Amino acid sequence: MTVLVLGGAGYVGSHAVMMLQEKGYDVAVVDNLVTGHRKAVPDDVRFYEGDVRDRSFMEKVFTTEKKIEGLMHFCAYSLVGESMEKPAMYFDNNVGGCITILEMMEEFNVKHIVFSSTAATFGIPKESPISERTPQAPINPYGESKLIMEKMMHWQSQATEMTYVALRYFNVAGASNDGHIGEAHKNETHLIPIILQVALGQRETITIYGDDYNTPDGTCVRDYIDMEDLINAHIKALEYLKAGGKSDQFNLGSSKGYSNLEVLETARKVTQKEIPSQMGARRPGDPDSLVADSTKAGEILDWHVENDLEHIIKNAWNWHSGHPNGY
Ligand code: NAD
Repeated sequence: MTVLVLGGAGYVGSHAVMMLQEKGYDVAVVDNLVTGHRKAVPDDVRFYEGDVRDRSFMEKVFTTEKKIEGLMHFCAYSLVGESMEKPAMYFDNNVGGCITILEMMEEFNVKHIVFSSTAATFGIPKESPISERTPQAPINPYGESKLIMEKMMHWQSQATEMTYVALRYFNVAGASNDGHIGEAHKNETHLIPIILQVALGQRETITIYGDDYNTPDGTCVRDYIDMEDLINAHIKALEYLKAGGKSDQFNLGSSKGYSNLEVLETARKVTQKEIPSQMGARRPGDPDSLVADSTKAGEILDWHVENDLEHIIKNAWNWHSGHPNGY
């Protein structure tokens, strides 16, 4: 039986492909390479280059791949700032893609899907840590598109035999343990790779936005999750659905936040580089602290975080220093 990984050439998807293969799954990938990299997918994985919104292309994929037991769905546009400038483009790709995928599942009788959702569906929550009971109120088109996708899956699961798990990630970071694949976004917006670009001399300095937040050292606290831990959650979620588990949503983080300064200090320790930094003004809309409560994933999926921030940054540094220009 095959797991079809949608968006398998991207940062998270490529690690899912690798770890599924390591666990003995047969894997195939669909990706249009809009932000992904062909080199991130091993040559022995069946690769279909095309757009998930393209119905006839997707019908060919599902017709060729006769034994799909489940989907992992990573393909989306996911830059918050860009989504504020181009909302229609975000709804078209993220929601439009989801429509075709759900139609394909129904037409070809594929029962299970594990789906990348995001902490951005919570907007600026009134509580931290953030549990599955925390109200979802996105403040940008990206988060809104993911919330719509969650709701589409819910209604589709009510009407058909499909079951889904939505995994809401907080901040994903790290790279594969062997250093062969890692994060290579053209417009990098994530803190850890940006800090490592400074360590590599590709940027002069890192700006920390604000040191007057209501946190222990005054800088924002975010929840970083290691790539290996994250993909383990996807595999456990798929196994859970295959065993008859009901559709559900889980917040995934380490349940332990790290402040921007802690991330910077850990990167200095790991890289043994100075990493010049400067303090900037607060950015509008940045909450003090965004930390996941992952108790439910522990209870229902038996999923627990194993890797800490230092491990995450060690793997990320191994990847970035070995591939300073990406793939
Ligand atoms: P990414 O951009 O590296 O990967 C997305 C992949 O999907 C790319 O390979 C891209 O080419 C492909 N894709 C996009 N639209 C497509 C389409 N219409 N048809 C076919 N392929 C398409 O992003 P990522 O960082 O790997 O994120 C993966 C998922 O996880 C996204 O859905 C994102 O919203 C979610 N997420 C990521 C983070 C994070 O910190 N990276 C946090 C929360 C949620």
